[in-house]
Amino acid sequence: MATSPFSEISSTNPETQGLPPLNGSLAPSPLKPSRWQRELATAIRDPSILLQALNLPIDLLPAARLASESFPLLVTQSFLSRILPGDPQDPLLLQILPALEETTRPPELRFDAVGDLLSQKHAGLIQKYHGRALLITTGSCAINCRYCFRRHFPYHNSPKSWAQWEPAFQQIREDESLTEIILSGGDPLMLPDARFHELVQKIAQIPHVKRLRIHSRLPIVLPSRVNHSLLNSLTNSRLQPYMIVHCNHPQELDATCSNALSTLVRAGIPTLNQAVLLKGVNDSFQTLLKLCQQLINLGVLPYYLHQLDRVDQVSHFEVDPAHGQQLIEQLRVELPGYAVPQFVQEIPGQPHKTPL
Ligand SMILES: *Cc1c(COP(=O)(O)O)cnc(C)c1O
Ligand code: SF4
Repeated sequence: MATSPFSEISSTNPETQGLPPLNGSLAPSPLKPSRWQRELATAIRDPSILLQALNLPIDLLPAARLASESFPLLVTQSFLSRILPGDPQDPLLLQILPALEETTRPPELRFDAVGDLLSQKHAGLIQKYHGRALLITTGSCAINCRYCFRRHFPYHNSPKSWAQWEPAFQQIREDESLTEIILSGGDPLMLPDARFHELVQKIAQIPHVKRLRIHSRLPIVLPSRVNHSLLNSLTNSRLQPYMIVHCNHPQELDATCSNALSTLVRAGIPTLNQAVLLKGVNDSFQTLLKLCQQLINLGVLPYYLHQLDRVDQVSHFEVDPAHGQQLIEQLRVELPGYAVPQFVQEIPGQPHKTPL
């Protein structure tokens, strides 16, 4: 039985067990798939397998098949294991099950509700705000969140090779006001270890860039992604790293996921969480309270609670912003100030996210 939270990490995370201490010489191998990649290969993509695995009524299948035509089902075994079998309203299931509501409303042509395409300076580079720019590193994710605001994003236009990335990098080199680069996607941690390492090093070569921010859901949905190679890439770089994970519900924070988050925090990487306010998932005071409490107990700071971006086929997740405001007020009464996320909305054309 572990007596200190520190010993718990080394004893329960096989990926960091028995490995040499972190140092610059630990170069990731480009050839051998990492454990997280082998795990990812077992992710579920077939709605009928999902329904079977979770003991769910087969009459959900036609809608799931139809909805997955425009945005496929994808869920890791790890995330699946946190879903309660037999409950069609499970808050984690609702985030990944392709649902009838996605197909019944007419399209409203809001493919780019947050103005990403207009803010694209070069393929793969989005800058909306002062001092920081975002790289669309890959279109893939380890799970497909049904409410995703980038579900319609034309990822096929994003750069595929270093040569194609060059205009974006040249733009970053030329703009000395850019002190922070945000790796986004898709999910930037879907990049293989060696390629991620290379990318971090390439960014670190640009002197005016001081901070590297990672926007990723992988520490939540595929905790084995938090491996030695990742920690090495982030902690041995000149850049100050920030990890922004994406967790919406306390039930997502099982032991392996909590362990991965602790590993990031204890490696000295400031780790924050952004959540999306989702109807039927986390639009209750008790759920958000528990989420924030569990996060701060792990050393993860609640950063943003996002009002849903209005893209097509997700409106069944929308919560009245007034209700969101009430929830935040209730959280303020219960929690330390640093544990209350900022409730924000992305309004195209604004110079920052807009607090609600
Ligand atoms: C949300 C977002 C950011 C980050 O904004 P912060 O308020 O700094 O977290 C940066 N660039 C783009 C394009 C974004 O959409
Ligand atoms: S992980 Fe993020 S980018 Fe990927 S589907 Fe979910 S919300 Fe969208």
